[in-house]
Amino acid sequence: KAKRDGKNSFQYFDSITKKEVEIASTIRRDLRFALEKGQFFLHYQPIVDARTGKVVSMEALLRWQHPKKGLISPIHFIPIAEETRQIISIGEWVLRTACKQMKEWRNMGYYGFSVSVNVSVHQLQQPDFAKVVFDILNEIELEPRFLELEITETVLIEAMDTVVRNLYRLKEMGVKIIIDDFGTENSSFKYLQKFTVDGLKIDRSFVSEIKVEVNKAIVDAITFLGHRMKLGVTAEGVETKEQLDCLVESGCDKVQGYYFSKPLPPDEAIRMVQKESNYFIFSPSTQKCCK
Ligand code: C2E
Ligand code: MG
Ligand code: MG
Ligand code: MG
Repeated sequence: KAKRDGKNSFQYFDSITKKEVEIASTIRRDLRFALEKGQFFLHYQPIVDARTGKVVSMEALLRWQHPKKGLISPIHFIPIAEETRQIISIGEWVLRTACKQMKEWRNMGYYGFSVSVNVSVHQLQQPDFAKVVFDILNEIELEPRFLELEITETVLIEAMDTVVRNLYRLKEMGVKIIIDDFGTENSSFKYLQKFTVDGLKIDRSFVSEIKVEVNKAIVDAITFLGHRMKLGVTAEGVETKEQLDCLVESGCDKVQGYYFSKPLPPDEAIRMVQKESNYFIFSPSTQKCCK
């Protein structure tokens, strides 16, 4: 029996692998035309103030609607787009689209939140990146304080003068800079040493396992560090009330995750803002998180 199971699972594994290879080559082939064919769109996931429950930002997350393969996740095509440098033009499209959406929301009378856009290191390595952002904001007539850029820590490993200069200019402009997935790369502290950012976003891996004491300790430490440096601390990937309570106990300022909302099309995402007053009610449990 064990043998048969083994064989079955091998075949299963084999077919998954084949499928993955096939998808990867399809992505490689079709990504070149995805932008001009208008196959990209953005979903927005609210980031919520942990004290008031109000939406403080909307994170733009890229989606690719492939005509045959369906919806393809950014984790599958962003690395390829980076490798082929297409991330430069795709990233610019994301920035412009997200800023336009934010402008539209502003025109509708929403002032309480900003838009968060993920940027790749490859974009930050372009000497004119800050200028590209500046031009987009000007063109759309959106105030820079309504734009937040999420960068991953790996940026600093390749952190040369160009990246730091871009970040400096962006900050000077009034754009906010957040370190995404904080704690997952060993460059975390070097980053803080070299550059003043506006916030830290604790990686989902620590949040999802926050019941495990070491993760709670890490979350406590990142929150302490952030506050010690006068930075806002956000936690991503919050799925349960229990996790939320732990994060509130740690002192996290902002929270985001399926517990509040999945990433949604703009008209659905804004509904979360419209009904935010009864979005969720905090009742932090008196119980200690990891006991
Ligand atoms: P990220 O910026 O750390 O975004 C968080 C990811 O976690 C998103 O996946 C989001 O849908 C997912 N997520 C949010 N809440 C929860 C939750 O409660 N539980 C779980 N299990 N997952 C949750 P997504 O949209 O697939 O994006 C994956 C990554 O792709 C992003 O990670 C980001 O690094 C990258 N990405 C997405 N859009 C862009 C973009 O426009 N430009 C660049 N350069 N990268 C992007
Ligand atoms: Mg992000
Ligand atoms: Mg993240
Ligand atoms: Mg993440």
